[in-house]
Amino acid sequence: MSLLEISSFAAGQWVAPGAGARNIASAITGEVIASAGNDALDVRGMLDYARTVGGANLRKLTFHDRARMLKALAGHLNQHKQALYDLSFDTGATQSDHMIDIDGGIGTMFVFASKGRREMPDAHVYLDGDVEQLSRNGTFLGQHICTPLRGVAVHINAFNFPVWGMLEKLAPTLLAGVPAIVKPATNSCYVTELAVKLMLDSGILPEGALQLVSGGLGDMLDHLTMQDVVSFTGSANTALKLRANPVILENSVRFVAEQDSLNASILGPDAQPGTPEFDLFVKEVSREMTTKAGQKCTAIRRIIAPQAQVDAVIEALSARLAKTQIGDPRLETTRMGALVSNSQKRDVLEKAAIIGQEAERVFGDPNNFSVDGADAEKGAFVPPMLFHCADPDNASRVHDTEAFGPVSTIMGYRDLDHAIDLANRGQGSLVASVITHDPAVARDVAIGAGAYHGRLYFNNRDSMKESTGHGSPLPHMVHGGPGRAGGGEEMGGVRGVKHYMQRTAIQGSPDILSAIGEKWVPGGTEIEGPAHPFTRKFGELSIGETLHTAPRTVTLEDIETFAHFTGDTFYAHMDDDAAKRNPFFPGRVAHGYLLLSFAAGMFVQPDEGPVLANTGLDNLRFMKPVSAGDSIKVRLTVKKKTPRNEEYGEVRWHVTLTNQDDEIAAEYELLTMNAY
Ligand code: NDP
Repeated sequence: MSLLEISSFAAGQWVAPGAGARNIASAITGEVIASAGNDALDVRGMLDYARTVGGANLRKLTFHDRARMLKALAGHLNQHKQALYDLSFDTGATQSDHMIDIDGGIGTMFVFASKGRREMPDAHVYLDGDVEQLSRNGTFLGQHICTPLRGVAVHINAFNFPVWGMLEKLAPTLLAGVPAIVKPATNSCYVTELAVKLMLDSGILPEGALQLVSGGLGDMLDHLTMQDVVSFTGSANTALKLRANPVILENSVRFVAEQDSLNASILGPDAQPGTPEFDLFVKEVSREMTTKAGQKCTAIRRIIAPQAQVDAVIEALSARLAKTQIGDPRLETTRMGALVSNSQKRDVLEKAAIIGQEAERVFGDPNNFSVDGADAEKGAFVPPMLFHCADPDNASRVHDTEAFGPVSTIMGYRDLDHAIDLANRGQGSLVASVITHDPAVARDVAIGAGAYHGRLYFNNRDSMKESTGHGSPLPHMVHGGPGRAGGGEEMGGVRGVKHYMQRTAIQGSPDILSAIGEKWVPGGTEIEGPAHPFTRKFGELSIGETLHTAPRTVTLEDIETFAHFTGDTFYAHMDDDAAKRNPFFPGRVAHGYLLLSFAAGMFVQPDEGPVLANTGLDNLRFMKPVSAGDSIKVRLTVKKKTPRNEEYGEVRWHVTLTNQDDEIAAEYELLTMNAY
């Protein structure tokens, strides 16, 4: 078989391996299949190219443009995923492992594409939170905004997820408007290289948005500036070394780390053998131990069960693990493939031996196990290994040694506080799970363990059919953890995009804030349109365009009619004495919904026109009661416009109802879909 030459993509050119290239072996056969790396790579040129070409191109686009780009990229990868599957087997991964890495990565990109369209503006500035009132009369306000960093994101990834590991970082980076240089782990970089080639060949990305380093990074990190970000996944040792780089420290370069973690899973005190929770626990633990041959940053390393159930868990788990067919991942019957390399195998066996100093191996023998369709000696195969630690309080290595393979240690707990204490002994993890049907147990764990874990996963009979698994980081939720897990945070929806943007506190007048945010701020200039705004198409409406209605007097008859028509005869609208006893009302008052209905009647233009539908109402507040005899009027202002598809866009209107004394009776935002 000819050796694959894994190239880098630098400043618009593919660069083949050269001096300093490293050989890469198949995880299944141990034979060299590829080489990658080139000491002559112009890393400074790559950084410059990303900053000047990629960044400038990406920043021309709005968040929605970039979200559409992500959707197209994910769709393109989806069409070509078979080629990625085919190549991935040599990393030791099975077809179901590919689903997590390749389909999971593509799915993550789709979620960011959709969140970008739904939760971010079709603009260049992201508004973070609401307007802050900084002055009595509202002429001086505050607003936090986020704008893309002007540098480059350097993504250093681990070997275990060559596709997901890249895409989960790339999607929020590109959505933010920042170019990326991706450096996959050399052991599995041939899969990442193909995914990068597919994305570049699709022509979807603007020039300079994505570059690839296959092999070593050289001295790239020595040339980073305060506008750059490093996002790292891998071992704690490497993270410490890289984040201690003097240039990174001196320039306060953002450094996001996701590293080893001694994740735990707790069997709830209620989950006795025979309950659906007990079976679920055994299933989840065995799946976490064997998926990707245990090479998952989120895998369960410590199994924490009630002391009385430890034997039952060992028995049930061993029976399940015994059914795990180990072998060539290309075989359909194989349930667990190989570790990524023989050096990882050595590392896992060394770490298992360290755990063995404090715990007894109760399942799995690395010197005696069968491998289907491959040579157990040549490939990086190990069996699942279960250890039992009888004295977890006095043990330390079981709480701090990560064997990055199918290795886990069970330990018993006396009561829930003890279980929480053991879970927290990991000194910071990416995820801890609790299998319980008792909400009070869940609450105690959330309060007692939340500060030590980036994610808490609760599962039981009610959620098990739809739950996504202890080990699956989801694009909607944060991934990362405190302490040992690296202290970083990735994904979590738009939160993850903000890691690649600068948050800036803006202070100024309503017009200044309206212009920066492309969103009208109350107190800002009102624009008088040439015609009723409901007669104007989406593209014709200006931000700030305002309609003031004529006043309408609310009568007692209106209140009576509305009450009997709708059935809402609540005493505050019907009984003057009772209403007066209520601290909120001066006497009988109009229904809030009557006021909203009147408002619609006052601002509507009834003819068929560009307003297609009323799709909702946000942030409604009733501020001042309206009594019979009061007169109300409405101000309707175009606050924000968001294109939705080729035919129409959403208009967000600011609506204020005031009484005869210009006091605000109600305020809300009305949403309509308007034709272009
Ligand atoms: P490393 O920390 O060695 O590597 C992670 C990434 O960092 C790789 O891309 C690697 O590149 C890169 N890297 C290493 N040294 C440097 C450097 N000096 N400058 C720039 N980049 C560098 O982890 P491994 O992949 O070797 O795995 C070792 C152990 O780490 C595992 O056994 C496991 O315990 C842990 N690990 C934890 C993960 C987690 O998510 N919790 C994921 C993966 C590993 P290259 O491959 O070219 O060396």
